[in-house]
Amino acid sequence: MRQHYPERFADIPILKLGVVNPLPQREILDFLAHVDIALVLEELDPIIETQVMALIAEAGLKVEISGKRDGLLPRVGDYSLELIETALAHLDELAGRSPVWVKLRRPESSTGMQEMPSLAGSTEGVDNQDMSDLNSSRKNKDHPHNEIAALPRSLEFCPGCPHRMTYYALNRAIELSGFTKDEVITTGDVGCTIIGMNAPLDACWTEVSMGASIGIAQGFKYAGIERPVLAAMGDGTFYHNGIAGLLNAVQSGVNLTLIILDNSKIAMTGMQPDPGTGRRTTGEPSVRADIAMLVRGCGVEYVKRLNPYDLPKMINALQDAMQHPGVSVVIAEAPCTMQGVLINEEPVQVDQEVCMAGRGCEDTPCYHKVGCPSVLLSLEGVRPRLSIDTATCVACGLCVAACPFDAIKPIAGVKKEESVTGTAFAEVQLRYLLQD
Ligand code: SF4
Ligand code: SF4
Repeated sequence: MRQHYPERFADIPILKLGVVNPLPQREILDFLAHVDIALVLEELDPIIETQVMALIAEAGLKVEISGKRDGLLPRVGDYSLELIETALAHLDELAGRSPVWVKLRRPESSTGMQEMPSLAGSTEGVDNQDMSDLNSSRKNKDHPHNEIAALPRSLEFCPGCPHRMTYYALNRAIELSGFTKDEVITTGDVGCTIIGMNAPLDACWTEVSMGASIGIAQGFKYAGIERPVLAAMGDGTFYHNGIAGLLNAVQSGVNLTLIILDNSKIAMTGMQPDPGTGRRTTGEPSVRADIAMLVRGCGVEYVKRLNPYDLPKMINALQDAMQHPGVSVVIAEAPCTMQGVLINEEPVQVDQEVCMAGRGCEDTPCYHKVGCPSVLLSLEGVRPRLSIDTATCVACGLCVAACPFDAIKPIAGVKKEESVTGTAFAEVQLRYLLQD
C-alpha cells in the first residue's frame, strides 16, 4: 500500500513485524503509545490482533484496535489492495479525518480475493452490447473508480505463466493416457502453483500446507488408488518441506510422479529468493542449489528437467513419468513472467476470419481451457468474439497451441517494445545458455 500511495502514507505510522513469535511487545507498545487508532493487518485468524489487544489492556493504553475482531476485515481469503483501502477508509471515518481513501466495497460483503460476483448475477439484465463491453469496462474512464464492473472469473495465473503451461500439459497428458481429470489425482501445494486448482485448469485436488502434496499423494497410494497419482509443488515448497516427503516416497517405493514447478523464486509472497535463486535475501550472490541433483540425491532415478513452454515435450514427459514404476520427477523450469519476461517477441492476435467461435468451435478452448487473463471474450451480436489484450500478452503461445483452427497467430512485423525484453529476459536467456 505504501508503495502504491506513498503520499497518502506520509503521516500514517506503520509498524511492520518481521518476527511474530515471540511477539516484540516492547516495539508494539512503543508504537501504540503514539496513536489513537490502529488497524491490524494479518490474514486468516486474528492471532496478532488479539495479542495486541491484550497488551493494550495490560499496559492501560487508550488505543482503539480495528481489524477482524470488530468485523471490519474478513477471516477468510487473501487481503487485496482494494480490501485494505476500504478498511482504511473506515478508519478515516472513525478518526473523523477527511477521507483520503475510497471505499471500494462494503465491509460486510468482504471475503477477500475469493469473493467473485456470480456470473448469473453479474449478467442479469445486461444486453449484448453491455456484455461485449464487459472486458473493456475495466478500463473505461467513464466509470468512477469505485463502480467498475469486474468480469467474473476465477483466480488465474498471470498471462504467460509457466505454471499454466505445465498444468495444461498435465491435463493433456492425462487425456492422452486415456483418463479424465476426475480419475487421476494430482495433489497440490501452497504458493502460486496452487492456482492450478482453479477453473479452467482444475488440475490440483488438494491444498494443505507447504510440502504436503507429496505426503498426501503417498497416502492416496497407500489407500489403494491404482490409477496414476501425482503431486505438484513449487521450488520454494520443495526446499521448505518437500524433500522429506520425497525421501520417504523413495524409501517406501511408492508409485507416484512429483512435478516441481521451478521458477527459482518464492513468487507468491513477493519474489523472495530461495536456495535455487543463486542469491541471498540481501541481494549478494550465493551458491545456487540444483533441484535435479537434489532429487537424484534422494534416490530418484527418473528425473526430467524441461522447459514448460516446450509443450509437446512437456506432455510426453508427463505421460511417460506417469507410467514409470516407483517415484518419477518432472521439473518444469522457467522463470516467473512477473519479472518482465517476454516468452516470444511477437504478440499474438485472433484472426477473426479464421476463428470459428460460435460456428463450429463451441467450447472455445483458447478461453475455456487456457484461462489466460489476456484472452478476452465478448459478444458480437449473439456470436462470441475472442480477442487478445496485446498490452498484457507475453506471447507464451499457449492459446495458439490450444486453438484447433490455427486462428491465433503472431502479429506479423510487430515486436513488443525493447523495455519489456530488457534485463530480466536477457538474464533468463543467459541462465538457459549456461545450463546447456
Ligand atoms: S499467447 Fe495467449 S496464452 Fe500466452 S500470454 Fe498471450 S494471450 Fe495469454
Ligand atoms: S480456439 Fe480458435 S477458433 Fe476457437 S474460439 Fe479460440 S481462436 Fe476461435
